[in-house]
Amino acid sequence: MITAICDVLKECYSRGWISTRDGNGSVRRKNENWIYITPSGTKKQRLDAESLVKMEFQPDKSLVKMDTDATGKPSGEIELHRRLLAELPDTRTIIHVHPTYTIAAMYAGHDLQALSLEFPEIHRYTKVARNVGIVPAISNELADATCAALELQRDGSISADIVGLDRHGVIAVARDPWSAFEHIERLEHICQIVLVSGAGK
Ligand SMILES: [Zn+2]
Repeated sequence: MITAICDVLKECYSRGWISTRDGNGSVRRKNENWIYITPSGTKKQRLDAESLVKMEFQPDKSLVKMDTDATGKPSGEIELHRRLLAELPDTRTIIHVHPTYTIAAMYAGHDLQALSLEFPEIHRYTKVARNVGIVPAISNELADATCAALELQRDGSISADIVGLDRHGVIAVARDPWSAFEHIERLEHICQIVLVSGAGK
């Protein structure tokens, strides 16, 4: 699972969906009170499983690094991952990247949820949330807006698999990293089709 997060981010890098130090991922497995998250600012083409940061949930739902001797700092988007992984019914992975056509479609004014409903190749398998507007990266505002768009409930359930952040990227949630990757890939594909067609919003 942890190796798969690294493999997914390397694949995203090779597809041009992130630049070298962008993107992040995390996982919390069922019945475990800790998460693994990618370290801040590492080169994604060299990411390996040992570099992921292990953090434990405290009674107040904050996260504390477990191996205090380890050098890596958690991703700057830790608050987003913490919020989504805090209340969990099951194993869950989060992947955040910047896919080119998906961001371009939002920039052009498309709502990704509306777009996805026009294409069965995506909406049969991937539920897309309404876009999150422009919010600062690495902020509590981004975490709040993303959780609201995914309609995160107290029991950890959410109403969509992926959400787009205007001028920024996407956040996908799934049971495993490659399923999250597929949500990103499907959305990117239909955004590419729409933009190549030249159709307006
Ligand atoms: Zn980002």
